[in-house]
Amino acid sequence: MIPYSKQDINELDIEAVTDVLRSDFITRGPAVDLFEEKVATYCLANFAVSVNSATSALHLACLALGVKQGDYVWTSPITFVATTNSALYCGAFIDFVDINPNTYNLDIENLRVKLEQARKINKLPKVVIAVHLAGQSCQMEKLFELSKKYNFKIIEDASHALGGKYKNKPIGTCLYSDITIFSFHPVKIITTGEGGMALTNNLSLANKMRLLRSHGIFNNNKNFENIPDGEWYYEQQELGFNYRMTDIQAALGASQMSRLDEFVDKRHIIAKKYNEFLIDSCIQKPYQDENSYSSYHLYIVRFKLEFKKISHKDLFSRLRQSGINVNLHYIPIYRHPYYRKFNVDLNLFPESEKYYNEAISLPIYPLLSEKDQEFVIDRINEFVML
Ligand SMILES: *Cc1c(COP(=O)(O)O)cnc(C)c1O
Repeated sequence: MIPYSKQDINELDIEAVTDVLRSDFITRGPAVDLFEEKVATYCLANFAVSVNSATSALHLACLALGVKQGDYVWTSPITFVATTNSALYCGAFIDFVDINPNTYNLDIENLRVKLEQARKINKLPKVVIAVHLAGQSCQMEKLFELSKKYNFKIIEDASHALGGKYKNKPIGTCLYSDITIFSFHPVKIITTGEGGMALTNNLSLANKMRLLRSHGIFNNNKNFENIPDGEWYYEQQELGFNYRMTDIQAALGASQMSRLDEFVDKRHIIAKKYNEFLIDSCIQKPYQDENSYSSYHLYIVRFKLEFKKISHKDLFSRLRQSGINVNLHYIPIYRHPYYRKFNVDLNLFPESEKYYNEAISLPIYPLLSEKDQEFVIDRINEFVML
């Protein structure tokens, strides 16, 4: 099977991990600090807080921004369920904004209309989570303007987008958001096995997330509320979690960071080849916004139903039967049984529904061979021209 994505681990990565295994610290040691510093430096952000997954990072980001019972958190329905689950962990209500038909990201005009309606009934969101689908940034500047007008916070779910840029600045800079989170799952741009990170320029948000990732415990006496009983003393001040990243993971991440640009370049070469050789009469290729330099985590094509000689479902099955593990990112979240209780009206999301009936993610990852990519291109061209 040719996967849709997978990790690229080299000997230097393996060496970095074995070095940690031979050292005194396999968790909470120097590798975590080094990895955080590397990501913060690359992204031009002030603070980076590593955690054991992007899901944890999203949860901590929501908590740090004060999301609680009864608050509203809005996002796009075309994302992984972790985006909205993080808000549900905090007891919030979730709601969705339909996608833009070109970028498949949350549509700014739809958001503007929905905000105006929400203002009238006093149900404005506390946080909007901007998901950079496939690695292409949302329109952050416009989103930021709306956040000032309607007084909400912004989390960037940049799980797909490490190494991408918006207006020539790295995604993660947090110029137009409060917190940006990344995922280091093996299918993403760089990997730590499992892992995630939250970036911010705000020291108190960073401190809050650091506290919550480790049980809500302070070890540093300048933050104690009580007078220390002795040198053993530490203090739990909040109900936190064990969301820490290990040094074993962080060493892999720090090593992978040195090849980040190479990974993204390789993804661009693969995307260019698809753009060039896929027959476009039935296939809509990924649109690229002029403000965005995508990390190309995904190469999503839309199979246009009006030209169909084969259905979307059949094309998908035939590709899988040919040994190509294509995927669909994503099933609109409101369609999941767990989310049915929120009674989301499908008719309010025509673009998400259309997308769901047409989208297919093709293989794209640094180690995809030319031969395998040509096989994918030939099969698609063959099946759509049948
Ligand atoms: C992968 C992903 C997540 C969750 O990442 P984990 O590191 O697996 O927890 C969240 N949001 C999006 C958009 C993702 O693609």
